[in-house]
Amino acid sequence: MQATNAATAKEVVQQKWGKRPLIIAGPCSAETEEQVMQTAVELQKTGKVDIMRAGIWKPRTRPGSFEGIGTKGLPWLQQAKKLTGIPVAIEVATAKQVEDALHFDVDVLWIGARTTVNPFSVQEVADALRGVDVPVLIKNPINPDLELWTGAVERVAKAGIKQIGLIHRGFSSYGNTEYRNAPMWHLAIEMKRRNPELMIINDPSHICGRRDILQDVAQKAIDLDFDGLIVESHVDPDNAWSDAKQQVTPARLGEMLDAIIWRREDVASEEFHAALEKLRQQINQLDDELMQILGQRMKVAEKIGQYKKDNNITILQTNRWNEILERAFARGDKQGLSKEFITKYFDAVHMESINHQNRIMNQ
Ligand code: PEP
Ligand code: MN
Repeated sequence: MQATNAATAKEVVQQKWGKRPLIIAGPCSAETEEQVMQTAVELQKTGKVDIMRAGIWKPRTRPGSFEGIGTKGLPWLQQAKKLTGIPVAIEVATAKQVEDALHFDVDVLWIGARTTVNPFSVQEVADALRGVDVPVLIKNPINPDLELWTGAVERVAKAGIKQIGLIHRGFSSYGNTEYRNAPMWHLAIEMKRRNPELMIINDPSHICGRRDILQDVAQKAIDLDFDGLIVESHVDPDNAWSDAKQQVTPARLGEMLDAIIWRREDVASEEFHAALEKLRQQINQLDDELMQILGQRMKVAEKIGQYKKDNNITILQTNRWNEILERAFARGDKQGLSKEFITKYFDAVHMESINHQNRIMNQ
């Protein structure tokens, strides 16, 4: 699909918005006119890119890193669009940036993770969007807080924006993990559950922070029924001015997208549905039993609480807790349950137990 002016680009976006999978790709940052044009042409060659991304203003953790080329880069995007027909998307964080972006016919705007955390900034962007008809994607806040993410969606929706989408880019966590931003998939799934009408795409680039695990994360997102992907792609990734480690060439992006197994959410076969239904009933049954057992466990904890109260001893006894965990690790391992899961599960059970005991002891 070729679009040679702003009006047709708008139509392209309208058609693409509901398309699955929606593929957004492009460099972390627009750097030079040549880099933008070359990347655009290479992305077009893959035949798989619906919208081209490029950062114009970059919110960097530390000053002194490349903070974006600024308004000067906007005509480059306009030109890239003219050449390839691919609509363009950029990040905006202030009213002025919204104004500049719209002035240069940027087709899709996104609110970055560092902006979503700040209701003042989100409101400023939302106010600048009042009366404007442009699709807006909202990245999750850097911290794992669904209310903040929801708040940003509400502010943009209240400004009258009709086409709103979500971008899951992972969450910051302290210490070194495998990921630059931990995906915490359950949070994205919960956001999706709360907002079934909103498109949600995955940003494997900012989750991974490195090339070697991009494919796995992208596949996982597709397996979890995300509506599309936003991937950073640069003609010369190693020499990119920002996020060099996570960018891939357009050719590599094409291979990556080819290698993804695009599963369907649903199939028509009755046999399949019947089998699935049976298994789901088993899961429901097991969940009911687990719930009953957990209830019983809490009753026992309450009895212990009563004894502790009568004998005036503390709720938490560290030795006993270590003993429970060690025992659980050993047993869980035999059941194929990971240490990570066991830890999280027992932490939750323990907290609930303490709350029950607390109630008894302070009655
Ligand atoms: C980006 O998309 O280049 C970016 C800055 O992402 P995030 O807001 O997710 O950190
Ligand atoms: Mn980036």
